[in-house]
Amino acid sequence: MAQINVADTIIAIRKTRDDEKHLPIIDNTRLTAVNTCPRWAGVRYGHNKIMGSGTSRALALEVGTALHHSFGAIRLHQLARNGYVDHAMHHARRLFPRDGAYEEVRSIINTARSTNEGDLTALRELGLFGIEYSRYEDDEKDKKRTRVNMEEAIIKYANRYNLSNRIWVSKQDKPEATVGIEIPFDVIIDIRARPGVSFPNYTTSPLGDEGKQIRFVGRLDGLVFDSGDNLLLEENKTTAQINATWITQWEMSHQLTGYIVVARQFAMLSCEAAEVIGLAIPQPKTSPYDGLVRVPATRSASRVNQWLQWFVNSVLDFEDATAAPLEAATFTHSCTRYFRECSMLPLCASDREEQEDIFNNQMTIQEWNPLSEDVAE
Ligand code: SF4
Repeated sequence: MAQINVADTIIAIRKTRDDEKHLPIIDNTRLTAVNTCPRWAGVRYGHNKIMGSGTSRALALEVGTALHHSFGAIRLHQLARNGYVDHAMHHARRLFPRDGAYEEVRSIINTARSTNEGDLTALRELGLFGIEYSRYEDDEKDKKRTRVNMEEAIIKYANRYNLSNRIWVSKQDKPEATVGIEIPFDVIIDIRARPGVSFPNYTTSPLGDEGKQIRFVGRLDGLVFDSGDNLLLEENKTTAQINATWITQWEMSHQLTGYIVVARQFAMLSCEAAEVIGLAIPQPKTSPYDGLVRVPATRSASRVNQWLQWFVNSVLDFEDATAAPLEAATFTHSCTRYFRECSMLPLCASDREEQEDIFNNQMTIQEWNPLSEDVAE
C-alpha cells in the first residue's frame, strides 16, 4: 500500500483545463472501492468490468438518481425565492433538458410566484416532477423501492424543506453562471514533493519529477448560505433505513471532507460545515428514527489533512490496482460485505489461468462516471 506523508508535499487545487480532460478520472467511489478490496477496484473501476451481462438493475442507485432530480428541482424554487428568478429559469434547462421538461419546472415556479398557492404546493409538485422526469419504473421483485414509496418520501421532504437557507450564486448578474445546485466538479489536485524531500519507501518518487496531477470529479448536491451567512455544503442521501449507525458514519466520512475542500475552491470562500440530508425509502412506519434527518458535520484543518493523506495514498493504490488488476491484493474480508456475496467471486475463486480468460473474454464493460446525468452517488 502507498505510504506518502502529505506533510512532505505541497498540494494545490484548481479547475481542470481542457488540455487535461484526457486524464483518467478519480472519484470517491473509486477510492472507497480500493480500500474495500484492491482487486475489486482494479477490475470494476480501473477497467470498468462487471461479471455477467450487466442487465440486472441497480435499484438503490436508480432510486438515488431519480430523487436527485427531485432535490434539484426543489432547490430551483428556493433559488427563485431568493430573488434569482432568471438564474432558476436558466438552470431548469440545464438540469431538465430532455423533451422540454424544464418548461414544466419553470411553470411551477412561476405559478407559485404569481398566485397565492404558496411554497408548499410548488415544493411538492417539483419533488413529484423529479421522480416523473427520471422515468423510474418499479421492479416487481422489490416491494420497497417503489414509486409510491418514493413519492411518499419526497412529499415529506417538501413538507419539511428548509427555505431559510440561501442558494450560493457565483455571479448575481449572470443567470448562466454556476449556482449551488447539482454542481458537477472536475478539478486537478496537484501534488508535489517539498524541496529536498525523498520518499524512503520508494526507489523512485511516486510523484514523479513534475509532481502528480490527479483529476478528481464528482457532484455537489447543494451549496447554500445558512442563517449565519456561513457557506454550507448540503449532501442528499437516500437509504433503506436511517438509524444511529447510519447517522454516525458522517462524523468521519472522507467524502464530505473532500467535497468541502472542492466547495471552497468553487466559491472561493471558507467552508467548514456540511449537512447530510438523509431520506429513507420507504418511510418507516414505526422507528425510533424519523425517515428524514439532517445530520450536521464540521471539518477542521486537521480533518482536511487526514482526508488528503487518505486521498493521495488511495489514488496511488488505485493506480497500482488498475495497472495489474489480477495481481492486486485480495481483501477477502470484503468478499461477503453487506451480507452479500461479492459479484467478482467467480473470478477470484478461479485458478490463475482461468482468471485471465474470465477477465479478458467473459466480462461486460460498464463504465461508472459520476458526471454522467444518469447517476447520483
Ligand atoms: S471476491 Fe473478494 S477478493 Fe475478489 S474482488 Fe470481491 S472482495 Fe475482492
